[in-house]
Amino acid sequence: MEKMNHDPYQVLGVSRDDDHAAIKSAYRRLALQYHPDRNPGDRDAEEKFKEITQAYEILSDPDKRRRYDMTGSADGMPDMSDFFGGFGMDDALRAFQEIFGFRRSENFSSVGEDIVIDVELELREIVAGSTREIKVRRLEHCSTCGGSGAHPDHGLTTCARCGGQGRIRTVRRTLLGTMQTVTVCPDCGGRGSIPEKPCPVCGGSRLEPRERRISVDLPAGISEGHYIRLRGQGNLPPDDGPAGDLLIRVARVDYGGFQRDGYDLVYRTRISFPEAALGTSITVPAVEDEAIGVDLPSGVQPGERLVMKRKGIRKLKGLGRGDIVVIADVYVPKKLSRKEKAILKELADSDSFKPV
Ligand SMILES: [Zn+2]
Ligand SMILES: [Zn+2]
Repeated sequence: MEKMNHDPYQVLGVSRDDDHAAIKSAYRRLALQYHPDRNPGDRDAEEKFKEITQAYEILSDPDKRRRYDMTGSADGMPDMSDFFGGFGMDDALRAFQEIFGFRRSENFSSVGEDIVIDVELELREIVAGSTREIKVRRLEHCSTCGGSGAHPDHGLTTCARCGGQGRIRTVRRTLLGTMQTVTVCPDCGGRGSIPEKPCPVCGGSRLEPRERRISVDLPAGISEGHYIRLRGQGNLPPDDGPAGDLLIRVARVDYGGFQRDGYDLVYRTRISFPEAALGTSITVPAVEDEAIGVDLPSGVQPGERLVMKRKGIRKLKGLGRGDIVVIADVYVPKKLSRKEKAILKELADSDSFKPV
């Protein structure tokens, strides 16, 4: 079995201060999403289901949670697998069933789809962090019928198929005894009632696309490919399940004249050979507010790194920030006039021009 090395808080997307109710609801959402009944044959989903169930087993048990919190290793990321040996799919399913009282054969309500929105960021936003207003079009409850799917002038009738239960129980006799399975009623989708007349706006689908503006905090230090996950801010599913997530993906960052190296910003500039020998001053473009004037000392070497401490990108986790690193490339002239050649030849023989 693959060794796990995950933080259960991260696995469930909860914080260390979250209480049991928050942890249980985070687990429920993920478990419904990754449950094998909903992802037949999907090995990744199975692994994920096992992992989140293990994470929940740790965090829902006060004693295990305390032990986990205390055994933090140097990087604060102890190994979740310390708590489990040979935890298989059956264990995960059994745990899930105990937690929610569901049976394996029950169909679960679905989770709405996630929405991914790409953003492009500028250097300034990466360095200091920013708040963006994101426009998102998502499926919400229909505003005309309030999500019932029923025409406002007409009511709801009890579903004939399930008698208002929303679930259908089937009892089978087998060699091992009677087996009872419970499924969501296909006629009413588990709601137990059916509109007498469908809503004229959503046609009974209960959902309506709505445009929203959502404010998102983009922390300093994020980079291309990072996501900010806003739980429950995505689409609602057609039945009673919870909404999906809204994912804000950093698609591109414009670093201006810089190259990024971790949290450092590298600025390359070209200076002439006399400037390198005599010293010069250059201007580094603004990272936050103002451009910075930098004096390059006489004798600066090609490729030499001049470090401006803590002027770079603020770190994503924890304190501190990276540096600005200035690298001066020295331009060597490709064509020379006769006069220039004569001067350089004269200089070439002098002692201070000999490489050391
Ligand atoms: Zn029904
Ligand atoms: Zn409606």
